[in-house]
Amino acid sequence: MPLNNNNKKYDALALFSGGLDSILSMKMVERQNLRVLGLHFIAPFFGKLHKIAHWEKIYEIELLGLDVSDEYVEMLLNGPKFGFGKFINPCLDCKIFMLKKARTLLETYGAKFIISGEVLGQRPMSQRRDSLDIIIREADVRNELLRPLSAGHLRPTRAEEEGLVDRERLGRVSGRGRREQMILAEKFNIREVPTPAGGCLLTEQESCRRYLPLFMHMCRPSARDFHLANLGRQVWSKTDPAGWMILGRNKQDNEQLQKLAEDKDYLFEIRHYPGPLGLGRCFCGRAWSEEMLAGAAAITACYSPKARKSRRSVEVVLTHKSTQRIITVRPDLKKQCSGWTEPEWNREQAREILENKTQLMPEAT
Ligand code: SF4
Repeated sequence: MPLNNNNKKYDALALFSGGLDSILSMKMVERQNLRVLGLHFIAPFFGKLHKIAHWEKIYEIELLGLDVSDEYVEMLLNGPKFGFGKFINPCLDCKIFMLKKARTLLETYGAKFIISGEVLGQRPMSQRRDSLDIIIREADVRNELLRPLSAGHLRPTRAEEEGLVDRERLGRVSGRGRREQMILAEKFNIREVPTPAGGCLLTEQESCRRYLPLFMHMCRPSARDFHLANLGRQVWSKTDPAGWMILGRNKQDNEQLQKLAEDKDYLFEIRHYPGPLGLGRCFCGRAWSEEMLAGAAAITACYSPKARKSRRSVEVVLTHKSTQRIITVRPDLKKQCSGWTEPEWNREQAREILENKTQLMPEAT
């Protein structure tokens, strides 16, 4: 769903990640007196809605934020056709997904073609020549897709053949280096050059270790679950696979947890001491036992240094389905934490889990 709609018409739509290649691709086409609208996709794993206004200002471009969270998570759970990269990144399917989305918007914006910042040979999985061809075929954008940075190495596209774009003024960039991109950045007067780091959490071990238990234990995780997995300290019960707790590490985390809390969740808040908000996510209709609720209250209290130092029993308020009650616990970090574990990344285990689609059963009611 577009996050803003200015009803204007454009010559081209561009996939805009915020990375240098996507900026340069847009600029290269805009320099040919064409109007380009950049599409910035938002999902739990990528996208920075809060940066759109900044990018528009410093790069002098027009952008549209598109929240594709639910559809993207669906694609992930259904098993990407072309598999995963080193972590949980389905790069080929991801590109196909985004291009298909862009194709559906061409008519709305009166645009004739789509721009993407892919560079031939830059990435092992998604930017080899055969991968670039697969992406075109699967997204059905043979006539629409222009890759301006590497155009000189690729077949002329319809926009070039019809004279809409001058092929001579497009790039011949290939490979992993950034030298040519830096020259172009200078030429286009790009004042703020983004760092090469991707910004996609599906390619980062720290995030993927958080996501893996969702694939393992949940019936069918939602986009909201993945948003939750991005937050705070994640702990899982060692004895009950339904025991997922998220503990805020600071005020912002606590506020985000409040926002993402659902009525069915368990919320734990220490009385009289500052400390984390604990959120226990209830999923697949499995209610928590009294023992697990007490353990969750205890671990919440343990992460309050002041409550721990008091060496006294402390009260934790449990909120669940709009009702509240007090659980009294002793915040002994070593003892209370022993029943919980932080998820770890194990590549072999991850392969097995991700490939075994039978684990992703429809959500129980
Ligand atoms: S790195 Fe992430 S955003 Fe980029 S193509 Fe791969 S999965 Fe998609």
